[in-house]
Amino acid sequence: MRDWLVAQAKKHTDSVRTQELSHVWSTTGKTVKMFNVVADMEFGAKKTVLLLAHWDTRPTADEDTDPAKRKKPILGANDGASGVAVLLELMRAFKEKPPPVNVTFLFTDGEDLGPDLDEMFLGAEHFAKSAPPGRYAYGILLDMIGDKNLVIEKEQYSIYYARNLVDRFWLNARRIGLSRHFPDRSGTWIADDHLALNARGIPTIDLIDFDYPYWHTTADTDDKCSAESLEVVGRAVESFLRNEKGR
Ligand SMILES: [Zn+2]
Repeated sequence: MRDWLVAQAKKHTDSVRTQELSHVWSTTGKTVKMFNVVADMEFGAKKTVLLLAHWDTRPTADEDTDPAKRKKPILGANDGASGVAVLLELMRAFKEKPPPVNVTFLFTDGEDLGPDLDEMFLGAEHFAKSAPPGRYAYGILLDMIGDKNLVIEKEQYSIYYARNLVDRFWLNARRIGLSRHFPDRSGTWIADDHLALNARGIPTIDLIDFDYPYWHTTADTDDKCSAESLEVVGRAVESFLRNEKGR
């Protein structure tokens, strides 16, 4: 998957690199090697925006209704793949017609290792620690955005750390007719990759639809997702960046 992702990203930019990190996993006591994939798209702008999604998937289906399946890995069509799919399409669209900002695409590993929060978001934390201060104006995280019934509320940590960005993003979504999917109301607090970036001073919002019954189960498969939902999020992010004053 890592090599496939690198190959996909290389179709759109020459600047693709992997970032290796390792972690001693409490579940096995063994060292797990992980890799972020980072792709820079420089368009000669002053401002650089970070777009991110996790490409790893939960190694254990802890929430499965069937106890026999709880030690199996999940496929993660929504929890993982949906965000990656939209980012790859945005890379294609931005290569075809550059936005007024530079964009770094970050595909994080180790978001969903677990079982607990202290062994999650590992790739994002690694990236955030090594990011040059002041490099990124802000970040937008895409996670679980493929649900057929897509409703993305304003996630609470995003409001806490980056209220202005949340407001601007939702306003733009409304302007382009997507308020059905981006209602003007706040949701819950969700720990996710954006916390690591916010902690390092990069204001980052989380676009996430956490109302998904198949979360961390073996039933998180592509029949629960829809191409239309991916398009909605892709258009919302694309339009937002194209309307930025970056130069
Ligand atoms: Zn997850």
